[in-house]
Amino acid sequence: MHNAYEVIPGTIYNIIQESPLIRTLQIRPEIPIEFQTGQFVELSLPGIGEGPFTPSSSHYTSEVMDITIMKTGFVTEYIHKTSIGDIVGIRGPYGSKYPLEKFHNKDILILGGGCGLAPLRSLFLTLLHDIDQYNSITFLAGAKSPKDCIYKELFSEWKKYKKVNIYRSVDIVPEGESWDEEICLVTKLLQKIKIDPKENPVIVCGPPVMMKFGTMDLLKYGYNENNIYLSMEKKMYCGFGQCRHCVIGGYYACKDGPVFTYAQIKNEEAIWE
Ligand SMILES: Cc1cc2nc3c(=O)[nH]c(=O)nc-3n(C[C@H](O)[C@H](O)[C@H](O)COP(=O)(O)OP(=O)(O)OC[C@H]3O[C@@H](n4cnc5c(N)ncnc54)[C@H](O)[C@@H]3O)c2cc1C
Repeated sequence: MHNAYEVIPGTIYNIIQESPLIRTLQIRPEIPIEFQTGQFVELSLPGIGEGPFTPSSSHYTSEVMDITIMKTGFVTEYIHKTSIGDIVGIRGPYGSKYPLEKFHNKDILILGGGCGLAPLRSLFLTLLHDIDQYNSITFLAGAKSPKDCIYKELFSEWKKYKKVNIYRSVDIVPEGESWDEEICLVTKLLQKIKIDPKENPVIVCGPPVMMKFGTMDLLKYGYNENNIYLSMEKKMYCGFGQCRHCVIGGYYACKDGPVFTYAQIKNEEAIWE
């Protein structure tokens, strides 16, 4: 295990333009970086800055790492200008992981939208690796419009797996774009599932508004607040509980999270902001 404070240089060996604002960098670090799905790393560009991102690849692949990045501001704008062969820095991993052992023999539900699908892709690929351990995986994935959908080819491929159910939705289909799946908010897809909510886990990641209303709906459907796992992408810098930018009440999102159960944080202030 390498020193988690050290920045490991990595070479971008491929770039997938997933949507106009989202791209996946495929990176080969100089030394393998082991992580557990759900954890995040700090990705840096020399002379520009760094930001927290969750790997979107399986935790079973440590020689290469995929990171899916949405262009939102200063650092991510520069990250979107990188090319194959460029060097980036990676430090970490940091934070909490998805508790896979609690998912054994369960019907797992994954609910995500937008760039929130990044950690869920990592989770899904990791679950697929050990698919015999799980009863079923149902993945509900949303995007604003067809052109904003990411992992398009992967979703078509994943549908072919036994034990896997995939439902996708877009909020709108603008003129000139085509779509043959659902048109609704991703949380509406919950109406399609036939999972017993009482004992089964659900993992949620997406824009704050989706996380909030998704969680409220899951509670209404009967999911237990201890089985609702949320990836909290709070603004953070250091990654290990020193700078205090990511405080959620009594927790640091970077050190105690980013994966929390709803039961853990439900009484903290402003969790959806
Ligand atoms: C644990 C964790 C995992 C994340 N994983 C991913 C991922 O896999 N893919 C991805 O695209 N993004 C991810 N993010 C969000 C990503 O870190 C920010 O979008 C990025 O750091 C913004 O940097 P910037 O300099 O381009 O934006 P800035 O110029 O700093 O700000 C632009 C906008 O982004 C918002 N922003 C800035 N920093 C963060 C932050 N840390 N979290 C959320 N919003 C932020 C600002 O409020 C502002 O609205 C993650 C965040 C966390 C905390």
